[in-house]
Amino acid sequence: LNRRLAEFGTTIFAEMSALALRTGAINLGQGFPDTDGPEEVREAAVRALRDGRGNQYPPGPGVPELRAAIAAHQLRRYGLSFDPDTEVLVTAGATEAIAAALLALLEPGDEVVALEPYYDSYAASIAMAGGTRVPVTLRPHEGGFRLDLDELRAAVTARTRLLLINTPHNPTGTVLTRAELAAIAELAVERDLLVVTDEVYEHLVFDEGGHLPLATFPGMRERTVTIGSAGKTFSFTGWKVGWVTANGPLVSAVRTAKQYLTYVSAGPFQYAIAEALRLPDSYFENFRADLRRKRDLLGDGLRAAGFEVYQPQGTYFITTDITPFGEKDAYAFCRALPERCGVVAIPNSVFYDDPGAGRSQVRFTFCKKDDVLQEAAGRLQQLA
Ligand code: PMP
Ligand code: GLN
Repeated sequence: LNRRLAEFGTTIFAEMSALALRTGAINLGQGFPDTDGPEEVREAAVRALRDGRGNQYPPGPGVPELRAAIAAHQLRRYGLSFDPDTEVLVTAGATEAIAAALLALLEPGDEVVALEPYYDSYAASIAMAGGTRVPVTLRPHEGGFRLDLDELRAAVTARTRLLLINTPHNPTGTVLTRAELAAIAELAVERDLLVVTDEVYEHLVFDEGGHLPLATFPGMRERTVTIGSAGKTFSFTGWKVGWVTANGPLVSAVRTAKQYLTYVSAGPFQYAIAEALRLPDSYFENFRADLRRKRDLLGDGLRAAGFEVYQPQGTYFITTDITPFGEKDAYAFCRALPERCGVVAIPNSVFYDDPGAGRSQVRFTFCKKDDVLQEAAGRLQQLA
């Protein structure tokens, strides 16, 4: 392994899911739903396979039906208008979109200011692109995690090329407010920065008002690369359909990198996701209401078990603090948890540059069936 990647071994998600398999524990670690997405979307994939649509290399930027559906979704939900031919790119999940964007936009040595704790692929993708990550740490505040705008401004230097934003934020569940997003936008304009914004949990914002895309803020349409994922929105994480929307030159840059990563993304699923994006608003509303209820179900169970719970406003994760158990090392806690009570969780310490920073934080996912969440909560209550 070369020096750029030396610090990145097996992802925490692979490690913890393997632990769950080995021990038979309930897996509230890696974020994947235990109920597949809509039947009609699965049928659409089967139809595409059977009808021979997408069984041979699809067009590099994605099949036209999906690009049109992505553009229509951005217009319908957010009033953002993108040309499906030049301003939309289909990727192999959001993970490839992140990697391709950073590989395309960074020069070696460029600094990337990113919200910490980070989703794990950010640090690795920045490293692969030869960039330097500069963390701005979200800190516990009034029962959740918040961004300090002064710290964000102070993190920008003459070498900063881009801001890497994630809202709703994995792992904390923080949803950036309109005021925070406006301040990020102002900073980007003032310092002439590009912004890559990971909005894969756009449909999982639990409070009224819904998701606010960074690209809708003044001056942002032309400097923002927005990333979405069908895995999260339609509960098909195994299909690996993601996308980028941005202006023509930025999409063209990201497409250049994507061409040499995967060339194209798998065909039949693209046709199915094109149909999924056209589902009526009731699908998205029911999905959100269901996950919101699950958040409360697991949150109550975790509080009853003695965890300090940071209330998430979005995503399908809850970050907790294990200090009430007299525990300080999240990694050791998570490794021992299957043995102690038959549950798997993720230590947030791995999402920080300074592992000391998140040492007592543990993340649980609630994108599971109610009885699974109830059983897990019951098991965790045996810890006290
Ligand atoms: N970004 C965030 C914040 C995520 O949580 C995830 C993971 N699920 C991804 C990107 C990757 O998404 P995909 O599965 O579409 O590659
Ligand atoms: N995004 C998911 C999570 O945070 C997992 C994705 C992965 O395994 N890379 O749990």
